[in-house]
Amino acid sequence: MNIAVLGAGLTGLTVADRLISAGHNTVLFEKEKRIGGLCKTDIIDGYVYDLHGGHVFNSRHRDVLDWIFRLLPKDKWQYSTRNARIQYGNLTMSYPFELSLSELPINETIPCLIDFLKEKGDKPKDFYQWLIWMFGESIANKYMIPYNKKIWNCDLSDMSIDWIDGKMPLPTKEELLRAVLTKNSSERKMPHSSYYYPLSGGIETLINSMSNNLTNIYIDYAVEKLSFNGKTWTINDLQGFDYIFWTIPLPVVSTVIDVPQNVCEAAANLKWNSITTFLFKSEVKTNVSWKYFPDQEQPYHRIVYQGNLSPLACPQGMSSFVVEMIGNHEPEELKKHFPIDDYLGHRFTEYAYVVFDRNHQKNTHIIIEYLKSHRILPVGRWGEWQYYNMDICIKRSFEAVSELISIN
Ligand SMILES: Cc1cc2nc3c(=O)[nH]c(=O)nc-3n(C[C@H](O)[C@H](O)[C@H](O)COP(=O)(O)OP(=O)(O)OC[C@H]3O[C@@H](n4cnc5c(N)ncnc54)[C@H](O)[C@@H]3O)c2cc1C
Repeated sequence: MNIAVLGAGLTGLTVADRLISAGHNTVLFEKEKRIGGLCKTDIIDGYVYDLHGGHVFNSRHRDVLDWIFRLLPKDKWQYSTRNARIQYGNLTMSYPFELSLSELPINETIPCLIDFLKEKGDKPKDFYQWLIWMFGESIANKYMIPYNKKIWNCDLSDMSIDWIDGKMPLPTKEELLRAVLTKNSSERKMPHSSYYYPLSGGIETLINSMSNNLTNIYIDYAVEKLSFNGKTWTINDLQGFDYIFWTIPLPVVSTVIDVPQNVCEAAANLKWNSITTFLFKSEVKTNVSWKYFPDQEQPYHRIVYQGNLSPLACPQGMSSFVVEMIGNHEPEELKKHFPIDDYLGHRFTEYAYVVFDRNHQKNTHIIIEYLKSHRILPVGRWGEWQYYNMDICIKRSFEAVSELISIN
């Protein structure tokens, strides 16, 4: 079969690799000058900079880990235990907040415990009420609501809760009480509490290891028009594709295909957030992996200590960190927070997070069903319009290719 893959991020590259291994004629299309999508890295003055936010890797899926280590052997990765922190006012706390209540002043710990242990009513349908229902009013107001307001940048009552399963660590009453009474946040027992990061070259090293077998790639080639003759697709002016794998953002659908009105409307109603990252060098060493900032005082929501992710991530004796901020921002905005002389670079990313508004499921379903009925297979974070991490993008790519092969 002749198959096109739209987008050469992690998902597109995995799909292409699987298709080529299965013997299909595969052509990849990427609008940027460089492959990798969200997993691109620059090296600035010897400092590794994951341009679209700090990216560390782990997976619960054995097949994904095996595949990754076949591409980039285990000795080329730094394996670390996560040491995440939360900056709550002047207090630097362990992560997650709800298991670190013993680190709060006692007059704050008590209401958090009382509220958490209250009998729960029916499960609410919106995210704002769900946070209160799940964690109790005090934990919700101190951390969950302010942090989530920053990252989602919208009214949390307009968000659904369909996406939460497996994305948020949800403690039982026993786990929370045990954590408080033993003064141990039990961070290490949580999934993804350890991670792999390429020893050299940042997360793009993984991408480079995937591109060796790929010969048929159009780079700097935006897909602008798709037309279907009932049997095969034409991409811009290249004809004859039996199937298309779609890994690019779903809202693009109505700009490149002449879709029916309902698909057009569904695409126009999808919501997402953008992000700006800023790289700073630093002489201060820390053993923290990353830190969350719920307070409105700080306009950013997370700092990733990029210099800690690998021993080769910055020049000897130095350190570095990446500040992540939702929206489109300029370095001057951070002047009062960080020494601007240490600023090394910044990058805006249009598509960073899918926003799960109340119509997310309905709109996504309309678009995906339309695409599938026209031999276009959406896959990955943007193709399926989901909160997928790298490993799930890889897993879904394996599944999508196997599915196509099984029906042909
Ligand atoms: C801030 C941040 C931090 C993250 N941290 C982690 C982490 O620590 N661990 C983890 O596992 N995951 C992390 N993720 C998630 C991870 O980045 C994604 O799951 C994964 O990279 C998505 O890959 P993708 O190929 O589906 O999408 P992308 O990487 O976005 O690739 C899509 C590609 O399509 C191309 N494209 C778009 N439009 C067109 C067009 N019209 N024509 C041709 N090409 C087009 C784009 O240029 C891009 O290259 C993070 C994400 C963000 C935003």
